[in-house]
Amino acid sequence: MCRHAAWLGPTRSLTTLISDPEHGLLRQSYAPRLQKYGTVNADGFGFGWYDGSRPVRYRRTVPIWADANMPGLAAAARSSCLIAAVRSATVGMPIEETATAPFADGPWLLSHNGRVRREAVRPLAADAESVCDSAWLAAAVFTRLRDGLPLADVLPAVVRAAAEGDPEARLNLLVTGGSHLAAVAWGDTLFTHLEEGVLVASEPLDDRPGWRAVPDRSLLLASPDGVSVTPID
Ligand code: GLN
Repeated sequence: MCRHAAWLGPTRSLTTLISDPEHGLLRQSYAPRLQKYGTVNADGFGFGWYDGSRPVRYRRTVPIWADANMPGLAAAARSSCLIAAVRSATVGMPIEETATAPFADGPWLLSHNGRVRREAVRPLAADAESVCDSAWLAAAVFTRLRDGLPLADVLPAVVRAAAEGDPEARLNLLVTGGSHLAAVAWGDTLFTHLEEGVLVASEPLDDRPGWRAVPDRSLLLASPDGVSVTPID
């Protein structure tokens, strides 16, 4: 199970998710505290931010701590919408950049924490950039977003369809669009922290009070207007 995190709010640098907090994704890559599946997240990492409305994405197959360029890049990458992920590849999945989150399409950036049988997701999209289960899930989401369906409808629909084909699937998804973000809790932990904006993360990035668990099987939507959590049934 990988770990992912996002920020929506006043402009901040990507270090907000990675290295500023004591238990940011850098620390979570080798010492996650709540991870139930897998122990370290050393099979690659990626992050994304927005230059105006244009997403910029960076991903590697090395552990996040092994990329000497990462600290400078993360400090310089500033945006009101940020996403980052560290990966623990599911057994049988390739270790390649195209299997590494965040996946990108148009304005969208997407990360998946979890595992799903590929037979359950392949029928949901025509093609994917990698054979990795997460790449197929991303393709299923992107196809529907490209058709103009709202994110708030697309995520529950894709999660329901994937879970129907694989009842054991773990489908924590995190999607940013530049001015808003959405996250699904389905089979693994998800937390939020409301401050001058909203932090969303697989597990708390630090020990400040105010981290709240998002109930399993629910959809979180965040925009400048606020945050809502609704059950996915
Ligand atoms: N199944 C995905 C992969 O192999 C995600 C893995 C995870 O969440 N640990 O990359």
